[in-house]
Amino acid sequence: MFKTDNSKALHDRACHSLVMGVSTGFRRKATPVPLYMERADGPYHYDVDGHQLLDYTLAWGPLILGNNHPGLNEAIIAQLGQAYTYGAQHHGEIELAELLVEILPGVDRVLFSNTGSEAVHTTLRLCRAHTGRDKVIKFEGHYHGWLNNMLVSVHSAPEELGKTSPSTGGQPASEYADVIALPWNDLAALERAFEENPDQIACVITEPINVNSGSCMPDDGYLKGLIDLCSKHGALSIFDEVITGFRVALGGAREYFKLEPDLSVFAKAMAGGFSMAAIGGRKEVFDVIIEGKAMHAGTYNGNPVCTAAAIATIKALSKPGLYDAMHRHGFAVRGVVEKAAGENGLKVATSGTGTCFSVHFGLDAPPRSWADVMNADEETYNRFRAAMLDREVQLLPEGRWYVGAAHTDKELEKVVPAIQESMKAIA
Ligand code: PMP
Repeated sequence: MFKTDNSKALHDRACHSLVMGVSTGFRRKATPVPLYMERADGPYHYDVDGHQLLDYTLAWGPLILGNNHPGLNEAIIAQLGQAYTYGAQHHGEIELAELLVEILPGVDRVLFSNTGSEAVHTTLRLCRAHTGRDKVIKFEGHYHGWLNNMLVSVHSAPEELGKTSPSTGGQPASEYADVIALPWNDLAALERAFEENPDQIACVITEPINVNSGSCMPDDGYLKGLIDLCSKHGALSIFDEVITGFRVALGGAREYFKLEPDLSVFAKAMAGGFSMAAIGGRKEVFDVIIEGKAMHAGTYNGNPVCTAAAIATIKALSKPGLYDAMHRHGFAVRGVVEKAAGENGLKVATSGTGTCFSVHFGLDAPPRSWADVMNADEETYNRFRAAMLDREVQLLPEGRWYVGAAHTDKELEKVVPAIQESMKAIA
């Protein structure tokens, strides 16, 4: 039985002062209790109950280099000796902007922000100002941050599919009145929405891989079709690469799928665990901001500590062969999950890439959209996850795994028997 006495005591104490006892709503669902950590090193978390946990959560994506990475530490410590933040310009923001323009296909200008939610917000404003149109298309099952206009139709109940449905209390309908939620991987539905709203759609935003709902992959030609439909109808296409950016390839989904939407949003893995986001695209799309017709702001935008973190992370990620090794690790894990499940009479499908993927019990084939993912057997995944925790492997809920540079063959040797034993334990 996994020991959580000290975590539980700390959580009980936290609940007396910290709302929910955790710092973001997603973490309150943690089972058996939200775990409290002492420290972390590489791909390992050390919790307050004395466990060394092999971490496949990577802090929900950012920790692509793991913790305590020497290059990243060195860059941050050097920067701390120079300045925390200036509220003025500095070399780091130019160096990072130049690096991004060099790495990201089809990107010749960038804007900095602090979090994915904020960067998405700025991107929608930019698209609306650029096109003079108000309506935005998003997709069911896709998460683009927690702000009122975008927190719709994320994990809709079956009866809510087909309409734009709010996801929280305190979210006035007026805030998402111009947002149309459509099923993903369905070009006909997108074409129909353009025809039903002539000259009204400012932009279409999509996760290029729907990691937030089961790591669904786009059908062949789907993303290209989406970009083409946007151009045909005078709307801008946006890849929300908050997860896929610097994760599926150094150049993100643009490089992985060889596609160039009008705009992309990056965060998470870009700065290796520090809070940094960027929007990238062609110069002409940013004209409304350059000309002062749309506002972009933020006290901490492009601050020296986070830009130093992003530069050091991207440099470390530029090591030849690194992405191949990370994908190989992930695909090896997926293979073991599928084989071990089969050997124990459990039906399982995996989806996504090697560096982020999802495991779905009860599905015959990789899901194509949220409507498929909602049929997966979450209860069995939760039992599998608990069995893995018993073996000191830490996983996220909802079947999602993140793989990073710190997951080496040594970690593979640890995770393989843990998967085999866990499948046996839950069968
Ligand atoms: N877009 C996507 C695709 C995300 O996965 C997330 C966060 N999980 C966000 C936007 C919001 O980012 P943040 O939590 O940094 O605001």
